[in-house]
Amino acid sequence: MSRIPLVIAVGTATAVAAALTTGPAVAQAAPARTAASPAAAADALVAAKPAYLHVSSAETFQRQASITSGGFTYVSYTRTYQGLPEVGGDFVVMTDANGVAKYTSVAQTSAVGTLSVTPKISDRAAQATARKQLKSVSKVEGTKLVVLTNEGAAAKLAWQTTVDGTRAGGPSRLTVTVDAVTGKVLSTDEHVTEATGTGTGWVYGSVSLSTTQSGSTFLLQDSSHTTLRAQNASNNATFSGSDNVWGNGSGTNRETGGVDALYVAEKQFAMLSSWLGRNGQNGSGGAWPIRIGLNDENAYYDGTQVQIGHNTAGQWIASADVVGHELGHGIDDHTPGGISRRGTQEFVADTFGAATEWYINSPLDPPDYQVGEEVNLVGSGPIRYMYNPSLAGDSNCYSSSTPSQEVHAAAGPGNHWFYLLAQGSAGGSGQPSSPTCNGSSVTGVGIQNAIKVMYNAMLLKTSASSYLRYRVWTLQAAKNLTPGSCTLFNSVKAAWNAVSVPAQSGEATC
Ligand SMILES: [Zn+2]
Repeated sequence: MSRIPLVIAVGTATAVAAALTTGPAVAQAAPARTAASPAAAADALVAAKPAYLHVSSAETFQRQASITSGGFTYVSYTRTYQGLPEVGGDFVVMTDANGVAKYTSVAQTSAVGTLSVTPKISDRAAQATARKQLKSVSKVEGTKLVVLTNEGAAAKLAWQTTVDGTRAGGPSRLTVTVDAVTGKVLSTDEHVTEATGTGTGWVYGSVSLSTTQSGSTFLLQDSSHTTLRAQNASNNATFSGSDNVWGNGSGTNRETGGVDALYVAEKQFAMLSSWLGRNGQNGSGGAWPIRIGLNDENAYYDGTQVQIGHNTAGQWIASADVVGHELGHGIDDHTPGGISRRGTQEFVADTFGAATEWYINSPLDPPDYQVGEEVNLVGSGPIRYMYNPSLAGDSNCYSSSTPSQEVHAAAGPGNHWFYLLAQGSAGGSGQPSSPTCNGSSVTGVGIQNAIKVMYNAMLLKTSASSYLRYRVWTLQAAKNLTPGSCTLFNSVKAAWNAVSVPAQSGEATC
């Protein structure tokens, strides 16, 4: 059998359950066969309904993408309840190369149990409530009935509507979850992830680019990965010309912004391949159009595109720590569990911005751990400092209030953790020292190892992501990446301790 059906009706698979109930998160898959594929092994584990999956009757599982990294394969799943998508029902099964399940990462902490799937309020009423969450609405993408499984709370029947438009302070693409029984707004999820822009937009000077020739016309579009392309935001047309010579070095010129943007996107694509073994920002060889011309001192990713705005001097801000950050949101969006939550989304994106800047290693944008240092957006230099977030007014140390802070402020502890892991508390080689929250010293492992830990942790991500879970996932990632050695693991752990993210029950030990 070359392909396994995507939908597994677990109710019919009880025969294998008895053989697979031992041990949490570890199972020998398909004992009667040799070397099961990772997907088949994961399916067998799921079919056995181990207690830690919190399976309810009336649930069906849908296998999603499998991503292989560092000798392990990460197979992610969603689930439905009586045919309705379960928000927060996702999980990841990690298997080794022999198809043996080794670890499972599960979003929900309790079973749905028995839940009525008959709504008490109409989809139209829910949609009207969703529209009210924005200042103005240009489009309603759709409304669907879902089962919401929040950590620690009883499952709820809900309407989910995604609306496009504007909020105070900028564009919005918002998913609004409304209780289908009471009509109350349960949560809102903003898909527009902003960088609060920076950069000069023409930082990289004279560069060579992979572009596309179409007849006698050239396009500012990667020749082998055509979804990497730079466009004019006013008409969403890919920049084109007859001579394959692009830009004029002027920061206010849109095509010049497109040159920097495509350069960064292509370099990040190469970094993902070379350092992480990942095939493109979206994991399947591509990315999203990068549009130059947002009329705002900002930039964002929204699930379909990256928009690049300007600084106070009108220069397009397509530097590595902006474009790399925005595409980092796309990477986050296209790893299991989707965009990171509870205050972690901006830190995740900043780690990809920094890794991209270091990979590029341009003398015109010397690699560092500042965000937006190339442009003086509001006259006060960088907008974030990963080695000392407090320099921009963000928190250096995690606390229980971090998850509810504004998303960029909440990036402080995570950025600080990443710096300590990459460079260490002493800094060195031109990088500054970094104060720790517990007075400890942390030994750095280099940015390439640090981003490997980050990325492999993201392969265990579920929709229940948080700083606390990132601690657990990065420790597991360090073990996966360096079996038999505790050096990487110890630095990961020391760095979390140094930013006050506390030990979690069940986390890996070394
Ligand atoms: Zn962002």
